[in-house]
Amino acid sequence: MKSYKIAWLPGDGIGPEVTEEARKAVDAAGAKHEFKIEWVRYPFGAAHYQRTGETLPDSALAEMALCDAMLLGAVGAPSVKPGILERGILLKLRFHFDQYINLRPALTYKGVPCPIPTSGRIDSVVVRENTEDFYMGVGAAAEGGNINTPFEVKRELYKVSGRLSAAFSPGHAAAAQVGILTRPGIERVTRYAFNLAKGRGEKEVTLASKANAVPILYGFLDEETRRVAGEFPDMSLKIQNVDALCCHLARKPDSYGVILCPNLFGDIVSDLLSGLTGGLGLGAGGNIGDKLSMFEPVHGSAPDIAGTGKANPLAAVLCAAMMLAHIGENEGAQTIGQALESYLAESGAKRPVELGGSALCMEVGDAVVKKIG
Ligand code: ATP
Repeated sequence: MKSYKIAWLPGDGIGPEVTEEARKAVDAAGAKHEFKIEWVRYPFGAAHYQRTGETLPDSALAEMALCDAMLLGAVGAPSVKPGILERGILLKLRFHFDQYINLRPALTYKGVPCPIPTSGRIDSVVVRENTEDFYMGVGAAAEGGNINTPFEVKRELYKVSGRLSAAFSPGHAAAAQVGILTRPGIERVTRYAFNLAKGRGEKEVTLASKANAVPILYGFLDEETRRVAGEFPDMSLKIQNVDALCCHLARKPDSYGVILCPNLFGDIVSDLLSGLTGGLGLGAGGNIGDKLSMFEPVHGSAPDIAGTGKANPLAAVLCAAMMLAHIGENEGAQTIGQALESYLAESGAKRPVELGGSALCMEVGDAVVKKIG
């Protein structure tokens, strides 16, 4: 029997509740498809930080590196200053393991109406570059009309350092932030998107760009993406301005497959798609890299409903299915996906509270496990 070691970081708020249900689904799929999971639970999050002052120690990173993947609930709590846990845990994990892809599938389900009439099913995946663009943290506010700030950013692929300098005359209050894209950064995410589309039996990848208005940064993106697309001669690249893409998505959301996005556009486009396909409780995401990949729901810790049982665990369950596909347990992943789909289609009044039904978190998890059989 195949066995996997999974780092499980339930975290804060509803994180423990929803990942518990996801774990149940994975274990049930394992029993059915003959694989076993060793769950290695980590305590990091608000309570641990408040008790010990520790966010995420390097020793834990070394241990996690030996795992096959990570399932994460949510990190953040009203009792901890915003940013401490996000930077100290989430971003630390993403950068340490160079998780350069944020994968956000969007799928419509029977029983979860799309707010826009569609002729077919929405079945898209946003492949969002996760390390570059306007998320490099390079920028400054002008003090007295001047910016003169050194910067240094380390990424797995490179280090970039320099000085941001500008003089405003007259010296109005102003701010500047820099977007950076690099050839190797674009190459790896583009290859990932094309291979993903190929695996889904699709012939096209859509790139969300904006080279007409931001020609230096996104003109470079277009050029480099086109070059890498040439490695896939039987497939095509459609470059679309992100504004036009959003307009199309709002009118015909079922007409896209894999959508490749630079970091900022990916953040926005994936939320638009998740709004069209059922909202936060169904939004699953993966942070993928060549080292440890981490699967976490799109929603946060939702402290307002933590402990009430009202949390919808389906996003976490979908994350678990993505995680299984990532480690090569495709049948297990499919089984969970089908179980979730069939539960939603038949649940009626017993759908999750978040979707207007009466089923509490554990009841939803149990119903999915029952469908797994
Ligand atoms: P954080 O600061 O950790 O991001 P947050 O409350 O600001 O937490 P989210 O957790 O993303 O942001 O959620 C926003 C709101 O959506 C929550 O207050 C909650 O009411 C609702 N919500 C989020 N996730 C779920 C879920 N899985 N099931 C039901 N409701 C949810």
